[in-house]
Amino acid sequence: MKIRFLQYDAISGGSRWRQVVRLSGWLICLLMGLSAFTQQAVSSGRLARTFGKLPYMEYGPGDDRLGGAKIGYLDSQVLVRVVDSLAGDYIVQLSQRHRAFMPKQGLRFVEGTVPAYRLSGSGKVFGDESHDYVTIALPERLPYRSLMEIGPARLTVDIFGVIPNTNWMTQLQSAREIRNTWYEALEDDVLRVHIDLSHDAHWGHRVYYDSIGTRLVVMVRRPPEALDLRRMRIAVDAGHGGTNTGAAGKMTGVLEKDYTLLMALELERQLRRMGCRDVFMTRRIDTTIEMVDRALMLREAEPDLLVSLHLNSSSLDTVRGTSTFYRHIGFRPLSQSILNRMLQLGLKEYGNVGHFNFALSGPTEYPNCLVEVAFLSHADDERRILDRKFHRAVAQKVSEGIRDWLKSMR
Ligand SMILES: [Zn+2]
Repeated sequence: MKIRFLQYDAISGGSRWRQVVRLSGWLICLLMGLSAFTQQAVSSGRLARTFGKLPYMEYGPGDDRLGGAKIGYLDSQVLVRVVDSLAGDYIVQLSQRHRAFMPKQGLRFVEGTVPAYRLSGSGKVFGDESHDYVTIALPERLPYRSLMEIGPARLTVDIFGVIPNTNWMTQLQSAREIRNTWYEALEDDVLRVHIDLSHDAHWGHRVYYDSIGTRLVVMVRRPPEALDLRRMRIAVDAGHGGTNTGAAGKMTGVLEKDYTLLMALELERQLRRMGCRDVFMTRRIDTTIEMVDRALMLREAEPDLLVSLHLNSSSLDTVRGTSTFYRHIGFRPLSQSILNRMLQLGLKEYGNVGHFNFALSGPTEYPNCLVEVAFLSHADDERRILDRKFHRAVAQKVSEGIRDWLKSMR
């Protein structure tokens, strides 16, 4: 039995609310009439603040191998109102009409009361040597989400629980990548900020609060000075490692972690051969690195782009082929360029997969692409994975894909 989604009809204050649960498959007809259930709200809500490594919000209670679909990550010390809980999640009321699910371990309850309303303050758009910024004064660290849009490239940032009252948006000429910034009220208490970018491509952004308080910052990365692989910092991630062994070969039992490392080292060599002096490797040895630590390590490294290498596996031994994955639409072009080149290896097309919930597809700070080279669970694919020559060929195709993507933007 799998819960597809919960739909809430909430009354402000959270004392009365109704849930409709839709159940999948044949259970739908049988259980629809029985499935509306009521859960006791945690009073009218308790205040909590985000803490720990990379706290995040999810749309609902969905769950799979990689967790539920994420709305996005939040900074620490962001204040939310917890109105209920479901299994390992707290349900938080973001605004009058929006809710989100958050893992319990990412929140800590705090004392305090919710004011009758909150108002947004002045905004500013400017740039420094490396980035452009939009800042908005807020009375509290409130939850937010950001969305990339394409054609033309634009960012949309929603700030929850605040009534728009920004009557002053200073725009300085030092901003080079941000073309226009304006806002609207998505709801009475949701401030939606639009940020038009100058270029067609997304090179990354990050939303956070300034270190001294409650000013929301949207940092926008400009394209690199030269769209030249030789002058960029390229991050390469060898999937799994240490106790996290990944998939195993169908015939030989070889471990994914060993072969992603061989391919990643080969990719590093290939990139250096092509003149890239700055290759950042998440690992060069067989070692355990948690996904959240990889993401934080990469945030620190500030790469121009990331390629993560994995090997796929299926319970069906007929499933085979190569695929690339992305989460944010703004980063799709990189994954398409790499897939186009990978297909030249004669591998079957498994596809270009979007909205993927992989931890290293989540970061918005730099373009990223997950490559599932081939299937360890398919005999022919596995034979190729075992071959050193194939590792070099994969490295070559991935780097050619990166180069194609850069060329397409010149
Ligand atoms: Zn893997």
